[in-house]
Parts: sequence; structure tokens; C-alpha cells
Amino acid sequence: EVASRAVAISKVYGTGDTEVKALDEVSVEFPAGQFTAVMGPSGSGKSTLLHCMAGLDRVSGGEVWIGDTELGSLSDRRLTMLRRERVGFVFQAFNLVPTLTAAENVELPLAIAGTKPERSWFERVTGEFGLTKRLGHRPNELSGGEQQRVAVARALLSRPTIVFADEPTGNLDSRTSAELLTFMRRSVDEFGQTIVMVTHDPSAAGYADRVLFLADGHIVDEMTDPTAEKVL
Ligand code: ADP
Ligand code: ADP
Repeated sequence: EVASRAVAISKVYGTGDTEVKALDEVSVEFPAGQFTAVMGPSGSGKSTLLHCMAGLDRVSGGEVWIGDTELGSLSDRRLTMLRRERVGFVFQAFNLVPTLTAAENVELPLAIAGTKPERSWFERVTGEFGLTKRLGHRPNELSGGEQQRVAVARALLSRPTIVFADEPTGNLDSRTSAELLTFMRRSVDEFGQTIVMVTHDPSAAGYADRVLFLADGHIVDEMTDPTAEKVL
């Protein structure tokens, strides 16, 4: 089963002299229940790939599929709905609402969609992420690692088909990064969550099942069962 795939996607920014081809006919599959890391030099197209796969940005050519839905066929409104229901995001900046508690932050996307999480699922996700005793706290009362665990729990709560994480450990020290990655790994192993993570950190990539290497808008290499040593 494939959670998401790209078929020869291209992304061009600008026109004429300022034209940049950020992605050049990239094809890739993200199998369900797999944790993929995406690495590559700055400007190689990692963020663009993530944004296009997640439906945050439209491709210039090719097809993006989330499950059995091709995003190019959707209106902006339908695309927003699909993102809400079937895609989770985690960003480098924790992006929590400062006035809301951890619990309210975790529930926010569902609240915006007008629904509530199933209680047992909420408890399982927040428990799995070690947040049970922190749920009543606001972001400024949480450590960076705890804030990012809230952000990942929030991304998982709708049981999305796929979660995209753009350098989720970029603002964390190495110990806290390892802790967050252990929780992310556990969500793959325990919940069968599919995750695609952009990272610069070889030790972060070591938590993934597979690493894709991007250069100049192309996938130039792929490694299965990576370790930090192999990635370096
Ligand atoms: P990475 O995430 O690997 O650093 P990006 O996807 O951010 O790479 O960028 C790929 C290329 O596309 C770079 O040359 C970058 O300058 C360019 N780019 C990215 N976003 C935009 C944008 N919104 N407008 C113009 N060029 C962009
Ligand atoms: P990353 O951490 O992935 O390298 P960047 O710092 O390259 O991210 O990009 C941050 C944001 O700026 C992204 O949303 C990207 O689309 C945009 N961006 C990147 N390069 C350009 C560019 N040359 N012109 C306009 N926007 C850009």
C-alpha cells in the first residue's frame, strides 16, 4: 500500500531570467507505515518537495497523489479539506498557539474542522508522546522538546494518511532531538504512521527506514535501513 506518491513532478518559480526549476520531474513513492528522511544541500528542493507533496503548494507539472486522490484535480477548497483530513505537518518552529494549553493545541486542527477527537485516541497519542502530565500547560511553560512533541501529537491526531515534517529537530539540542525522534519512530512502529521528514542531521536520518538524497531538484540517491554512520 502506498500512502502518497509523486509522478514526474516539477516546480518552477519565477519566469524568464529569474526562473528557478526547484524540482525536475521527480517521481517517488511513500509506502504506508514507512519513515522516510529527505536530505540534500540547501537549495536542492527539499522544502519544495515537501510543500508540493503536502498540497501546500501546486506543482508546475506532474501528479501528486495522497492515497487515491490526485491533488491537481482538486479545487483550492477541496484541497484545503483534504489537507485538513489526511495530511499532518510539523515545522521547525513549533508553531503552537501561545494562549492555548498543550491539550487545546493538540486538538486545534480538529476544533477548526468542527470535530472532536475520539477520547481514547487522544489519550493514546498524548500518552505515547509523554505529554499526559503536561496537557494543562501553555507553550511557554514547556521545554522546546515538549513543545515539539505537542506539535507532532497535533499532526497525528486526525489519523492522517501521511505526516510531513520539515526539519522538526532544527531548533532542538542533540539529546532532545534524539528523544523527539524516538517518539516519531514509535508512532511509525506502534500506529503504522507514514512520515516524511526533511533533515540536515545524519543522526536524525538514522531513525528513518529510508533516506532520499536530493540535489538540484532531482533524487540522486536512496539508502534503505540507514544509520548515522552510513549517512555521513
Ligand atoms: P531546500 O529546502 O533544499 O533548501 P528549497 O526547496 O527551499 O530547497 O529551494 C529550492 C530552490 O527553489 C532554491 O533555488 C530556492 O531558492 C528556490 N525557491 C524556493 N522557494 C522559492 C520561492 N517561493 N520563490 C522563488 N524561488 C524559490
Ligand atoms: P530551508 O530551511 O528549507 O532551506 P529556506 O530558508 O530555503 O528553507 O526557505 C524558507 C522559505 O522561503 C520557504 O517557504 C521557501 O519557499 C522560501 N524561499 C526560499 N528561497 C526563496 C527565493 N529564492 N525566493 C523567494 N522565496 C524563497
